Amino acid sequence: QAFSRHFSQTRFAMAPISKETDFLVIGGGSGGLGAARAASAKYGVKSMVIEGGRLGGTCVNVGCVPKKVTFNAAAIAETIREAKSYGFSLSQTAPFDWTTFKEKRDAYVKRLNGIYERNLNNDKVEYVHGWAKLLSPNSVEVALDDGSKTVINAKKILIATGGRPTIPPQVPGSEYGINSDGFFDISTLPKKVALVGAGYIAVEFAGMFNALGVETHLYIRYDTFLRSFDPMIQETVTKEYERLGVHVHKRSIVNKVEKDASTGKLTVHFKEGDGEGVVSELDHLIWAIGRTPQTDNVGIEKTGVKLSEKGHIIVDPYQNTNVENIYALGDVAGHIELTPVALAAGRKLAARLFGGEAFKTTRLDYDNVPSVVFAHPEVGAIGMTEPQAVEKYGRENLKIYKTNFTAMYYAMMDPEHKGPTAYKLICVGPEEKIVGLHILGLGSGEMLQGFGVAIKMGATKADFDSCIAIHPTSAEELVTLK
Ligand code: FAD
Ligand code: NDP
Repeated sequence: QAFSRHFSQTRFAMAPISKETDFLVIGGGSGGLGAARAASAKYGVKSMVIEGGRLGGTCVNVGCVPKKVTFNAAAIAETIREAKSYGFSLSQTAPFDWTTFKEKRDAYVKRLNGIYERNLNNDKVEYVHGWAKLLSPNSVEVALDDGSKTVINAKKILIATGGRPTIPPQVPGSEYGINSDGFFDISTLPKKVALVGAGYIAVEFAGMFNALGVETHLYIRYDTFLRSFDPMIQETVTKEYERLGVHVHKRSIVNKVEKDASTGKLTVHFKEGDGEGVVSELDHLIWAIGRTPQTDNVGIEKTGVKLSEKGHIIVDPYQNTNVENIYALGDVAGHIELTPVALAAGRKLAARLFGGEAFKTTRLDYDNVPSVVFAHPEVGAIGMTEPQAVEKYGRENLKIYKTNFTAMYYAMMDPEHKGPTAYKLICVGPEEKIVGLHILGLGSGEMLQGFGVAIKMGATKADFDSCIAIHPTSAEELVTLK
C-alpha cells in the first residue's frame, strides 16, 4: 500500500494515502494551499494537497519571501551608505557576507516549509508529497518519493500548478545563464552580473545587486522597463536606475553568451540600438523574461481542459474550467500573477464550492488589485494607467493630479544622493472618482495598502482631500494634491 510522506516523518506517523477524496488540489503553492485549507478548516470537506516540490510554492521558496529578505539586505546597504549624511562615521563599504546571509535566508525558508506543513495538519488537509498527473477528469496518478505510484479519485479537482521561468531565446550559449530560481542558489557575492528582461523580476534583482555593490548590466528591449506600469513610473525609475549606476542597455538584444572554461566567467555579446557590444568577466547572467504556466506535464490532455495560446488554463471569473468539477487558479490561470491573488482566489473558490447557499456566487474581484515592485525606489500601483484611462474614458473626462518632490529623508544629503518621489492620481468625471493611483519613492510598498482600501471603496478626490494629512510624511502629498 502506498504511504504518503504526510507531514514531516519525524513528527507524524506515515499514514496510508486515501484512494478517494472530495477535493483534490494539485500544487501546494499560495493558491492551492489557500483553497485546500479553507475547504477543510472552514467547511469540513475531505481535501488533499499534492505537492511535488517544496510546500509554499514559488512565493515561499523562490519568490516573494527570499526576494523580500534580500531586498531588506540591499536596503540596509543603502542606509549604511546614506548614514554618513546624517553624521554617522560608518565605512562607505561595510563588508557584506552574502554566504552567511544566504544560509540564514535558506534556514528561514525551511522554517516556513515546516510551518506550512503543520498548518495543513492543523486544518486536517491530507498532504501527499509527489508529482501528480491527471488520468481523467476525476482521477490523478501520483509519483511518490519512493518511486511507487498511486491513483486517487476525487469529486472535484483544482489545478494550481503555478508557473516556472520562461526558457530563454535560443541564442548560442543561453544555457550558461540562470533564472530567478537560480538567483536564490547564488552562494557568494558576485562582482559583476547581467540580467535580461524588463519586468518585475529583472528590475527587482538588478536594483538589489546594484545596491549591494555588484556591477549590474540590465538588457531591455525598449527605452524603459516596467512597461505595463504608468509612463511616469517607467520613465522615472528607468532614469533613476541609470543614476544609481545600473548599466541599462536600452533597445538591446543579447545574441551570444560564452563561458570561460577555466574561470567560469561569462561574456555577453549584444546589439544595442544600431551598435554592438560585449561585456565580459560576468559571474552570472540571469534570464528574467517572464513565466510559463506549468500545464505541460500535468496530464491536462486526459481531461479536455482548454488552454490558451500561451498554455494558461482558461477559466471563467469563478475559476471554472470548461470541464465540470475541474477548476484552476493562480499563475497557471495567468490573469494576475501575484501571491495574494492566488490565495484569495483559492479561498473564494472553496467558499463557493463548499460554503453553501450564502456563497454560491462568491468569486474574486480581479479589478483594482494593488501591486508593488520592490525596485529602487519602490513602486506601487492600483487601477488604470493614464493611457488605459484615456482609452476607456477619453482625455476630456479625466483629471490627472501629479507631483514630484524630494522626500524629507534626503534633506541631509548632497544633491547627487537624492532619490525621486512621484505620485499620480487619475480621476474620472465630475465627481472625480479615482481610477488609478501610481506612486514611487521611499516607503511606497507599505503606503499603497491603505490607499488601496480607499480606492476599492470607490474613493473620490474629495474623499482624499477630506482626510487630514499626516505630517511630515511623503504620503501626505496624496491627500493635498492640487
Ligand atoms: P505556485 O506558488 O508556483 O505553486 C504551484 C506549486 O505547484 C509549486 O509548488 C509546484 O511545485 C507545484 N506543482 C506543479 N506541478 C505539479 C504537479 N504536477 N504535481 C504536484 N505539484 C506540482 N508575488 C507577490 O505577490 N509579491 C512578490 O513580491 C512576488 N515576488 C516574486 C518574486 C519572484 C522571483 C517570483 C518568481 C515570483 C514572485 N511573485 C510575487 C509571484 C508569486 O510568487 C506567484 O504569483 C505565486 O506564487 C503563485 O501562486 P500559485 O499557487 O499559483 O503557484
Ligand atoms: P514580467 O512578465 O513581469 O516581465 C517580463 C518582461 O521581460 C516582459 O514584459 C518583456 O518586457 C521582457 N521580455 C520578454 N521576453 C523577452 C526577451 N525575449 N528578451 C528580453 N526581454 C524580454 O515577468 P517576470 O519574469 O519579471 O515576473 C513574472 C511575474 O511574477 C510578474 O509579472 C509578476 O506578476 C510576478 N512577480 C511579482 C513581484 C511583485 O509583486 N513584487 C515580483 C516578481 C514577480 P518588454 O516587452 O518591455 O521587453
